[in-house]
Amino acid sequence: MNASGKSPAQYGGLDLFRIPAALLVVAVHTGPLLTVSSQANYLITDILARLAVPFFLAVSGFFLASGVQKGWRGLRRFCCKVLLLYGISILVYLPLMARNGYFRGCTPLSLAADLVFNGPFYHLWYFPAAVLGAVIVFLLLRRLGERGTLAVCGLLYLVGLLGDSYYGLSAVLAPLSAFYGLLFSCFDYTRNGLFLAPLFLLLGVLLREHPPRLAGRQYCALLCGGLALLMAEGELVAQLGSARHDSMYLALPLCIWPLMRLLCSVKLNSFSAIRTASTAVYVLHPLCIVAVRGGAKALGLLSQDGFLLGSSLLHYLAVATASLLAALPFALWRQRRGRVQSSPPALRARAEIDRSALAHNIGRLTKLLPSGCELMAVVKANAYGHGDVLTARVCMENGVKAFAVATLAEGIRLRRAGIKGEILILGWTPPEQSRTLARWRLTQAVVGPAYARALNDSGCRVKVHLAIDTGMHRLGFSWDGGDSLLTACGLKRLRVTGLFTHLAFSESLAPDAVRHTQEQLGRFRQAAELVTAAGYGPLALHALSSYGLLNYPPQSGMAYARPGIALYGVLSRPDEQVGTPPDLRPVLSLRAKIARIHALSPGDCAGYDGAFAPSSPARVAAVTIGYADGYPRSLSNGRGRVLIRGKFAPVAGLICMDQLLVDVTGIPEAREGDTVTLIGRDGEQVLTAEEVAQAAGTITNELLSRLGERVTRVLIP
Ligand SMILES: *Cc1c(COP(=O)(O)O)cnc(C)c1O
Repeated sequence: MNASGKSPAQYGGLDLFRIPAALLVVAVHTGPLLTVSSQANYLITDILARLAVPFFLAVSGFFLASGVQKGWRGLRRFCCKVLLLYGISILVYLPLMARNGYFRGCTPLSLAADLVFNGPFYHLWYFPAAVLGAVIVFLLLRRLGERGTLAVCGLLYLVGLLGDSYYGLSAVLAPLSAFYGLLFSCFDYTRNGLFLAPLFLLLGVLLREHPPRLAGRQYCALLCGGLALLMAEGELVAQLGSARHDSMYLALPLCIWPLMRLLCSVKLNSFSAIRTASTAVYVLHPLCIVAVRGGAKALGLLSQDGFLLGSSLLHYLAVATASLLAALPFALWRQRRGRVQSSPPALRARAEIDRSALAHNIGRLTKLLPSGCELMAVVKANAYGHGDVLTARVCMENGVKAFAVATLAEGIRLRRAGIKGEILILGWTPPEQSRTLARWRLTQAVVGPAYARALNDSGCRVKVHLAIDTGMHRLGFSWDGGDSLLTACGLKRLRVTGLFTHLAFSESLAPDAVRHTQEQLGRFRQAAELVTAAGYGPLALHALSSYGLLNYPPQSGMAYARPGIALYGVLSRPDEQVGTPPDLRPVLSLRAKIARIHALSPGDCAGYDGAFAPSSPARVAAVTIGYADGYPRSLSNGRGRVLIRGKFAPVAGLICMDQLLVDVTGIPEAREGDTVTLIGRDGEQVLTAEEVAQAAGTITNELLSRLGERVTRVLIP
C-alpha cells in the first residue's frame, strides 16, 4: 500500500539490480579474478563493472525526475539527501584518511577540489558528482529543454571521454592537451560531476518522463548489442593504450538505456530496504577491505601479493560478504521504519483505489474507440473523489495522454504533480487568468461569445477548445454559428485547437432520448463543418462522455471521448442498461473503523435525538466516518447499510458530522477496531457505489465526488 499523493512505487526491478551493481563496484576495487586470469579480470573489473556507477547515476536521475517537476524544492531535497550521506561517509572515513596521511599534504585548495570533484576518499567522489550533475541537469532542463540538455550533456561526456579512456588522443593536438592540462590542474579525473554524471542523470530523468517505445525483447537485443560494443571498445582502448583512467566508454550510455528500460518493465513493488542496503555496501566496502586485510594479516592468511590465501577470488568473496553483513543492520532498520510508516491503523477513513481495476477500465474503454480517437480522462472534482493526482498518474502510466478538469486550480495541481499532455478545463475560468493558463500549458474551454472576447483581450495567447451548444443549453456557442462562433475562431490570442459539445440525453436509450442525441450529434457535425469550411483547423472534435461512449458507437473523425464515471468502473445508478455492456471494475472502496461498541437494553436509545431506540437488547457500533467525510446524512435511520466481517449492518439513528452508528446486534463477533466497509467488497458480500448512491437518493457521480479531504486515498496494486 502507498499513501496517497505518492507515485505508485513499482520499481522493484531497479531496486533488485542495485545489489549486483554494488557488488560490481566491490569487484572494481578488489579485482576478484586477478590470480585466475588477468584477461578475465580485465573483462570483469575494467569493462563490465564500469556499468555500475552509470547505473546508479541513472537510477538517481530516475528518482530526481519527480524532484525536477517540483522545481527548486525538489532539487534541494535531492541534494540535501545526497550531501547528508556524503557527510556521514566522510566522517566514517576520517580515521582512515588520517592514517593514510591524507591531511599532511593537504592545502585549502586541494581540499576544496577533493570535496567537489575527486572525493576525499577514493570512492566518495560519487556523492559530490551526483549533486553537481543534478544541479547541471536541472538548470539545463529549465533553459534548454530536453533536446538541448541532452546535447550539452552528451558534449560534456565526450569532453570527459577525451580525458579518460581516450586521454592519449588529446595529446595529438597541442591546444587540446593544453586544455586537459588545465582541467587536470583542477581535478584528478574527468569522471566527476561535470563530465560523467550529467549524461546518466539525464538518461534517468528522460526514462521516467517518456514511456518505452520498444518491446522488452527489443531492449534485450539492444542491451546485448551495447555490451558487445562495450567489450570491443574496451579491447580498443587497451590496444591504444590511451587511457588515463578507464571509467568512461562511448558504449556505456548505449548499455544503460536499454538496461534501465528492462529493469523498469519488471513490475515489482519497490524494496526500500534493498535500496538502503546497496548504498551501505557502496559506502562501507572500502572499510571492509581494510577489515578483511587486517583480519587476514592477524591470522597469517594474507599472502605476499595482498590476497587472502593467495586467491583474489577468496579475497573478493570475503570483502563482499563482509560488506553485505555490514549493510544488513541498515536494511533491517529501513525495513522496520517502512513498516511503521505504512501501517494502516493511522487511517480513520480511507478510500482504497484499485490500480489494476483502473488500468482494466482504461483498456476496456479504449477498445471502444475507433482509430485516431483517444481517451480524455475526466479527473475533475478530485477524480470523482478518487484522488486526482493519483488517478491521473495511473492513467498516464496506461497510455492516457489527455485529461479534463473543471477548474483552473485542478489543472495546475495536475501540472505541478508532473502530469503531461493535454489538460482541458471544461468549466469557466476568470478570463483575466490567460497568463496563468498559458504558463501551465492548460487548454481552456470557451463558454460563449462574450467570454471569448474577454479571454482574447486579457493579453496572453491561450490554447482553447470552443464549447458548442447543440441543445443542452448549458455552455457554448450556438451550433449554427448564429452568435459569432466564427468571429471567436478568428480572434488573435485564441489558438483554437478543438471543438466539443456535451450530450443531455445520452444516459437513456428511450426513443425520444435517442432522437435528441442524434440531433445533438448532427448539429455538432454541422458546427464542425462550418468552422472547417471557414478555413480554421485542424480541430480536435469530442462529444461523448461515459454514457455517450457506452450507448453510441463513436464515429470516426472524433479526436477524443471524455468518460468520467465509467473510468471509475461504476455507472450512475444500479442496473442501468447501456448499449455496450462495459465489463468495468469498480475502482474505489470506502472503509472506516469501529471506534466503540455499546450494548443497549430496551428503553436505551443512541445518537442525536435518541433516534435509534431498539425495543430488544442491541449492540451499536460507532464508526469513524460521518457526513463531513461525504457519507450522506440522508442514509440515516437504516436507509444505509455497511459491511463488517462480511455481514451487512444497518446505519442506526442519525449520521453525525464525523461519526455514524451502526446496529451490530446481528454480528456478535464484531469488535472495536474492526474494519467497516461502506463501499466495496468484504468477503463474499459487496456494497456497490450504485446501491449506496441510490439509497441516498442521488447518483454515484455525486456520492463519490463528495468524498471529503479527511478520507485518505490509498493506492492498492
Ligand atoms: C463531467 C463531464 C464529463 C464526464 O462525464 P461522465 O458522465 O462522468 O462521463 C464529460 N464532459 C463534460 C463536459 C463534463 O462536464
